[in-house]
Amino acid sequence: MEYEYIFEEVVVKETSSPIFTLNGEEIDIWSDEYSNYHSKSIADYVKEKLIEFEKAGVDPFSEIVGKDVEKEMVKNALMSGSNILFKGRKGYGKTTFSKSLVKLLPEKLLAIKGCKIHDDPTKPTCFSCKKKLLEQDKIELTWVPRKWIRIAGDPMMTTRQLIGGISIQKIKEGYDLDHPEVFTPGRILKAHRGIAYFDELGAIPSALQTLLHELLEERQITTPEGDIIPIKIDTLFIASTNPANYKGTADIKEPLMDRVEEIPIGPPESLDEEIEIGLRNMSLKEGALLPIWHLKILARAVRYARNKHECRIASRIELEPSCRATIKLFDHLRASATRKGHKAAMLEDYGSKYEIFKLGMRSRMELDYEDDITKDEVIEKLAEEAINRTCTEIYSAIPTDNFGSLIEELAIICENPIKVGENGINYKEYRNLWDMLLMLSKTPEELDSAFEILLESIWRCTGVIEKVSGKYVYTAYDR
Ligand SMILES: [Zn+2]
Repeated sequence: MEYEYIFEEVVVKETSSPIFTLNGEEIDIWSDEYSNYHSKSIADYVKEKLIEFEKAGVDPFSEIVGKDVEKEMVKNALMSGSNILFKGRKGYGKTTFSKSLVKLLPEKLLAIKGCKIHDDPTKPTCFSCKKKLLEQDKIELTWVPRKWIRIAGDPMMTTRQLIGGISIQKIKEGYDLDHPEVFTPGRILKAHRGIAYFDELGAIPSALQTLLHELLEERQITTPEGDIIPIKIDTLFIASTNPANYKGTADIKEPLMDRVEEIPIGPPESLDEEIEIGLRNMSLKEGALLPIWHLKILARAVRYARNKHECRIASRIELEPSCRATIKLFDHLRASATRKGHKAAMLEDYGSKYEIFKLGMRSRMELDYEDDITKDEVIEKLAEEAINRTCTEIYSAIPTDNFGSLIEELAIICENPIKVGENGINYKEYRNLWDMLLMLSKTPEELDSAFEILLESIWRCTGVIEKVSGKYVYTAYDR
């Protein structure tokens, strides 16, 4: 009776093994060549790999910038065989982190060919494979690559989508075990022998969370017809939740919370990390150069929006911009500078009213209310604050010994109003200025941009230089 296979636990040992074939050739799955690709649990593979990385002194999550404490917690949780819940607002890398875990799985695994959930040849989960192993003396195998299955939290999700369709009734009616009416795996079963990433676990209806718990904990499911079926799913269960989506209510049910270790994922800790994340993820890989002072200005504008202590206007921001804002600001500045034919970004590329800041930040932040100030005004203030701060930094870096001589040189260059980049100044003729520009810029293409930010800094921090409609002029003589 086929239907009994469902409840049977089928385990294949070397002594009781059928003949396995791979690409038409008979293979010995217990030989050194193949033994690492079956029989082990995902948790075991992960532990082995973690130790390997640890011994080699290699960071398994090198694509994640910073987050040293979080990485340690993740490694420890996995080492003790736990599931993980990443908690944090969107855009701080929860998904990237979960994806990076894929490296802890073997590159490929042996599976029974044709199996809908890529069953292990020695311990099948689905009925069809159990039947094959019990009845056939020759089983065809195949390689399956690493699996990372994203399951998007959706309040409308159905049991069929999540778990799948399994019907004992249909088997009793004589349907073949391979028939889709008998068994169609849902998303979680597709993650068998891989990673299941639940993006927004809390958004999944609570009845489904109960089923999920049953599947992960009891390793069984209850069908809509009321049958309890063992499903020995083997998956690394990783979930994420965004507290901002649930105001005060815990939307992940208690039994599931008890099955995960919560790891908070927040914004990058330092300005340098923020910049690094922006650079790594921007989509415009080519075009105008983005000198470091511009990167700092853009990243600071985003970071001030998150920091009520450092920037007063931030207290009006209810939903803070994530790293995606930083990434997009980098893209927008490069796009703007490239369009204008600049070799390196200039201040005018921001737009006359900081349009590129608005372009990258408007949709990524929310104010508490907008009666007395608009979002655009807030963004302008953030940009101003970021420019002031960055210019102060540059101004403070001018060596005190050379300050007087530098100003004398600027007095000559800026005797009449100049627009940087259009006057063809030979910077090398001015020794103090040249030293300063070399200190700021990394490449000759950045020299104009460096000269501009230097003038901007002296204008903002002293009164020696004046800025009039985008041109800088020396004014000290007038005072
Ligand atoms: Zn199977």
